[in-house]
Amino acid sequence: MNYQNPDKNGYYGEFGGAFVPEMLYPNVEELQGQYLDIINSEEFQTEFRDLLKNYVGRATPLYFSKNLSEKYQTQVYLKREDLNHTGAHKINNALGQVLLAKKLGKKRIIAETGAGQHGVATATACALMNLECIVYMGEVDIARQAPNVGRMKMLGATVIPATSGSKTLKDAVNEALRDWINNPSTTHYIIGSVVGPHPFPDLVARFQSVISEEIKWQLKEIIGRENPDYVIACVGGGSNAAGTFYHFVDEPAVKIIAAEAGGFGLDSGKSAATTFLGTLGVLHGSKSLVMQTEDGQVIEPHSISAGLDYPGIGPFHANLFKEKRAEFFSITDEEALKSAFELTQIEGIIPALESAHALAVLGKKNFKKEDVVVICLSGRGDKDMETYLKLL
Ligand SMILES: *Cc1c(COP(=O)(O)O)cnc(C)c1O
Repeated sequence: MNYQNPDKNGYYGEFGGAFVPEMLYPNVEELQGQYLDIINSEEFQTEFRDLLKNYVGRATPLYFSKNLSEKYQTQVYLKREDLNHTGAHKINNALGQVLLAKKLGKKRIIAETGAGQHGVATATACALMNLECIVYMGEVDIARQAPNVGRMKMLGATVIPATSGSKTLKDAVNEALRDWINNPSTTHYIIGSVVGPHPFPDLVARFQSVISEEIKWQLKEIIGRENPDYVIACVGGGSNAAGTFYHFVDEPAVKIIAAEAGGFGLDSGKSAATTFLGTLGVLHGSKSLVMQTEDGQVIEPHSISAGLDYPGIGPFHANLFKEKRAEFFSITDEEALKSAFELTQIEGIIPALESAHALAVLGKKNFKKEDVVVICLSGRGDKDMETYLKLL
């Protein structure tokens, strides 16, 4: 079985595809027809690799955490995506897609954002490459995430509030899709995770796959073999996890662990653990697992971390779950907070709350002393200081 790539219609097993209104067919078909030729071209790869190296600061270190290793009696390595420019993995995708948009001749970029991290990454890439940038963001999120709204504005983006529904991420996606329908020829829509209609899940996974590409050669340098025993990442939509797992999913020797946001707990009614609570459905253009009522109404998710507060999961991961290729853990808000403070105090690294969900797996599973366990530290914690400070 090939877990890495979807079939030609964008399916990973039974998940994926492109479920969009007829008016979006031309946009989506244009992308489907061209994305692989463009991003695999030598010209594109040269430009993209140069930006990753000199602008983002890649390769990010693969750091052996002596202190976590001692505490949990195993060999823990942290993939330091927190050290990327703008503070998380999201810039890998934003730069790749802005570059793609330029090759497609687009003049205008639109994006949706929840916490503002993807909006900031997109606004950054647009400032660099001189493209107009419009970010849709729920009115409620604009109020909750003022520093990121400020960053986007300073970077020259226009932030448009989504005022329908619950005024959060899923409403911002709907507004962005409406904009794309109205401006098909001039505009590229940059989706921020491995979600959305085909080809977005594959496109975003390929841009993020640099994470596992680096882990392989870095491990080879450090321990003399390319494959770890485990890779672990948190999953919101699933882009940092897809990047971390990408070059390992078809290596049976590597075990894969995904950490979902359990919120207050699986039975609390306030959770975002989609594989545990979701059922087959269509959300934002693809068929996957979705948290929904019996009649298909999306259930409002909850997580303490805005980046994991999403009622769906990318089709790549839904397939890993269904096929039992990956083990899924549901990490509560409290467990994530505990892990965030632990890393800060024993390693001097303040992680993003999202990344802390991946770290929390160390406390829930027994690894062997000699196991090599690579954890993706998807982002840094600056943006979460307000939450952390409440606990001090
Ligand atoms: C947005 C974000 C996530 C969640 O998004 P994925 O697409 O699941 O990776 C995780 N960590 C950080 C730091 C983020 O900003």
